[in-house]
Amino acid sequence: MSIFADDIVRFSSVLKIAYNFLAGRDYLKRKKFREKKKLISVALPFSDLAFATGGIPVFPIRMETLEINKYLVYLGSASSIFGWKKVSDFLGFIKSSGISELSKTVDKIIDDAIDTINRKYNEVYDLGIESGISSDFCYGIKSLYGMHVSKGKNCDAVLNFTIRCSAYNKYLESLKTIAHPPEQVWVDIPPRDIGDASEILMDNISRAITQLENLTGITCSDNRLREHFQIGNQVKKSYKTILYEIGTSDFYPCNPATFAEILVLLNHTFQDYNSNAQRYAENMNHLVSEMKDRIKKGIGMDVSKMPKILVTPMFGGYEPEITEIIYKLGGRALYADWEMLLLLEEIDVSRNSNPIEEYAKYLMNATSNGIGCDNDTLTNSYLRNAKQMNADGLIFIQLFGCHSVSNCYAMLREKIRRELEIPTTALTFNKIGENIEQVKTRLGAFMEMF
Ligand code: SF4
Repeated sequence: MSIFADDIVRFSSVLKIAYNFLAGRDYLKRKKFREKKKLISVALPFSDLAFATGGIPVFPIRMETLEINKYLVYLGSASSIFGWKKVSDFLGFIKSSGISELSKTVDKIIDDAIDTINRKYNEVYDLGIESGISSDFCYGIKSLYGMHVSKGKNCDAVLNFTIRCSAYNKYLESLKTIAHPPEQVWVDIPPRDIGDASEILMDNISRAITQLENLTGITCSDNRLREHFQIGNQVKKSYKTILYEIGTSDFYPCNPATFAEILVLLNHTFQDYNSNAQRYAENMNHLVSEMKDRIKKGIGMDVSKMPKILVTPMFGGYEPEITEIIYKLGGRALYADWEMLLLLEEIDVSRNSNPIEEYAKYLMNATSNGIGCDNDTLTNSYLRNAKQMNADGLIFIQLFGCHSVSNCYAMLREKIRRELEIPTTALTFNKIGENIEQVKTRLGAFMEMF
C-alpha cells in the first residue's frame, strides 16, 4: 500500500495536476487535430516562448500512452460533471469509511500514477539506448532521446535552450538525426554575462519568437509576452510558497512522504505546465489554499522532529524510492531543483518594461548565478538553497555519465562542511530501480547521523 495515498486523495488540486499530467495524450491530440494547434517539444522549464506564441508546449513523455488507473479515468470524467472538489471529498469519505476494498482502490490510484511515470521513464530510457544514443550519456538525456524517438514526430517544433552541459547541447543537436525530426528552434544562452552577452541573448530570443510565430501564425506582441509571464509569475509564487512557507514549517498539511511526492509531481509538471498555463496556475494556487486550509484546521502532521533532507539534483534522473526510504527512517525529503537553479525567479511585467529584455535577464541570471558554467557557482547555488530551506542534511545524486554536474560533489561537500556543518552524502544513480538495496544501506547509515 502506498503511504502517500491517504493524504494525496484529499487534495483535489493534486488529483487534477496528476490527471492532467497522465491524460496529456488525449488533451494534446485534441489540441493538435481539432484545434489545429502546434505542439512544441520542451524540456527543462523553458516553455514560456511556446505559450506566448500560441503554441502548445509539451514535455514529450506526456505524448506517450500512460497507463491511467481506470478509476482516475472515471474521476476525470466525473470531475467534468461534478467538479474536482466533490470528487476529492468523495475519495476522502471512501478512505475514512473503512471499506477496505474501496479504500485499496484509492491507494492504487496514486500508486499507479507514480509507478506509471517511473516505468515509462525506464521504457524511453531503454528505447534511447536501443536507438543508438551513446551509453556515455546520463539517464535524463537517454530518456529524453527515447521520448523523441517515440513521439517527436508528433511535434511541429522542438524548442532548444543551451545550458552549461555540453552533453545536453550535443543531445539537442542529435535530435536532427531522428527520423521525421520536428523543426528546431534554438535559443543560445551565452555562458557568461560579459560584454554584449545580454544583447546577443535578446537577439536570439527575438529570432526564436519569429520562428515560432511563423509556425503558429500568431503574432507575439509585448502584451502577449507580459500576459504569459504574469501567469508564470503566479505559478512561481505558489511554488515558492509551497517550498518555503510550508516545506520548511514544523506542521505539514499531510505526511512528509506525501509532501515530498507532491514536490516530485511539481518538478515534473513545471516543465510544460501540463500544456495549459492558465489551468496550471489555477491548480497551483488551489494547491496552496488547500494546504493552508488544512494547516489552519490542524489537519496534517507535526514534523518538527523530522530532519529536512534536501535531495538534489533530480532533473538528470534519481531513484524515486528515496522519498519513502527517508520517511521510514524518520526524515522528510525535499526536492527544489528549479528553485536552486534560480528558475523560480519572477519576470518583471511592469508596463514600461521590455518583455524580451526581462526574459533575457531571467535566463541570464539563471545561467550565470544558478546553473553556472563553473562548479563554484553551481555549488554556491546548492549551498544557498540548503541555507534558505534550513536543511538538516543534503543528499547529492551522482549520475552515471554526467561529467558536468556530478563532478562538483567534492567541492560541495567541502563547502557544506565548512559553512553549514550538516551531514551530506552522495548516491550514485544509473537507472530507476537499480541498486535499491545499496541506496537503502547508504541512507540507513546517513540517517543515523540525526
Ligand atoms: S545530469 Fe549531467 S550530463 Fe545529464 S544533462 Fe544534467 S548536467 Fe548534463
